Amino acid sequence: MKKLLFLAAMSAFLFSSCCCNKKCKIKNDDEVINGYARVELTADLSRFSDTDRKMMAYLCDAAELMEKIFWKEAFPGDREAFLNSIEDENLRKFAEINYGPWDRLDGNRAFMKIPGMNGLDDKPVGACFYPADMKMGEFEAWKDENKASHYTVIRRDENGALQAIWYHDFFKEEIEQAAALLDSAAALASDAGFAKYLRLRAQALRTDDYFESDLAWIDAKTSDIDFVIGPIEDYEDDLFGYKSAHESFLLVKDPEWSAKLAKFSAMLPMLQRELPVDPRYKSEMPGTDSDLNVYDVILYRGDCNAGGKTIAINLPNDERVHIQKGTRKLQLKNAMKAKFDKILIPISDIVMDPEQREMVDFNCFFENVTFHEVAHGLGVKNTINGKGTVRAALKEAYSALEEAKADIMGLYMVEQLYAKGEMSGSDVDKNYITFFAGIFRSVRFGAASAHGNANMLCFNFMKAHDAFTRTEDGLYKVNLPQMKEATKALMAEILRYQAEGDYDGLRKWMAEGTVIGEELQADLNRIADANIAKDIYFVQGKEVLGL
Ligand SMILES: [Zn+2]
Repeated sequence: MKKLLFLAAMSAFLFSSCCCNKKCKIKNDDEVINGYARVELTADLSRFSDTDRKMMAYLCDAAELMEKIFWKEAFPGDREAFLNSIEDENLRKFAEINYGPWDRLDGNRAFMKIPGMNGLDDKPVGACFYPADMKMGEFEAWKDENKASHYTVIRRDENGALQAIWYHDFFKEEIEQAAALLDSAAALASDAGFAKYLRLRAQALRTDDYFESDLAWIDAKTSDIDFVIGPIEDYEDDLFGYKSAHESFLLVKDPEWSAKLAKFSAMLPMLQRELPVDPRYKSEMPGTDSDLNVYDVILYRGDCNAGGKTIAINLPNDERVHIQKGTRKLQLKNAMKAKFDKILIPISDIVMDPEQREMVDFNCFFENVTFHEVAHGLGVKNTINGKGTVRAALKEAYSALEEAKADIMGLYMVEQLYAKGEMSGSDVDKNYITFFAGIFRSVRFGAASAHGNANMLCFNFMKAHDAFTRTEDGLYKVNLPQMKEATKALMAEILRYQAEGDYDGLRKWMAEGTVIGEELQADLNRIADANIAKDIYFVQGKEVLGL
């Protein structure tokens, strides 16, 4: 109920802050809806041929079918009737963003009642993949070889017994249409590998056997146009984490950045050799098992469009594919830019020194997050003293430290590439300042996640090394020489914990190093009070793209 009032107050505020009635569909009016900033998902598609654009239009239509299926997976009623019952335009938009009446960024708490579904306050834990009245024990006792498949829904038959139904049967109408659209798109594809992938993917949707199409997707990386479609991630099923939800991304490659990354990945062995750390901590060959490229996303449909938006893709999820061909990592540059503009810049305006605020820069942000990914492949995967893999030795503390490693080593690599003249167009000081400003974004909701903890480790380490100063008004200024020294020291420290598998030492460091101090908390409170967007939502589709 509190939530509902807040939302009502919020939309009243949104309306009153604008000039007018609903007729002027104004930017201000729907700029931020309950924490989501509006972003138009456009891209310059002029470099593509008419045939390519026609193919993209087919792919958009196939993606819309994933949207339709995902609504059925997420919401246990009729989508149209539900949305039409909501009079307030912003509330309706918010329900669309959440694919139902539950706030995905607030623990799925209900923000309104569903008309005609009395008493259903909480989001079903297993979404709509299981019968609403099914108990865990019943499922566990049930013997069925397909019950835990990623690609079946569970329903009751006429006698009330559980049955597993394949997606391609349960969503037959949508799946057949989507597969036919993929075949039509494949006939227009100029890249042979991509055409093969689309054909195999159509077949996969019809059979729910995705393996061959996943392999083909890895091989299709040369295509300038890319498309992810199907049941992909299991997060929507909070009951068992078995069922994959349908989604789709349509993407176009950033040729310039992709070429740069190909060049840098060839430099990884050298960068590893030159790390200023104990030689035993860098004795492994850096991993090159995943392929990193840069894209602009031009369509998010289904699961990936619900609630918070992802800014990177690492697929496929099938471990059999990892063993045969590795994975592909796609950095989603325009989505990162949108979050940078709508979230990081407003945060910087609140906490950064005015002079350094000007140096918080998107290109640097993008370099930092991209080299974060590259840096995951550097350092060591195994301890040097017989304690097994780093992951096994450091247990639950592993993830946060690995994220901190990737942040800090990524930053260091950018500095090295600037020093070697391999990067140009900017100023590495801006990379450090942009990185520092980003810490506030990562810990603004507390340090609970691996990324949040990683950022707090960095923040407190930097503080102890005088890498920044804070004025009485809570404005931060990076002291660049100290920050650069601290970066190197922190990198050496992290690699030591990893290579030595020093679990007890790390536990102790993390207990102290992830604490959010009083001053920082006060600054985070100022950020919270400023009502800065928590995430983004997209205005998107064929029309927006001009297809
Ligand atoms: Zn990472």
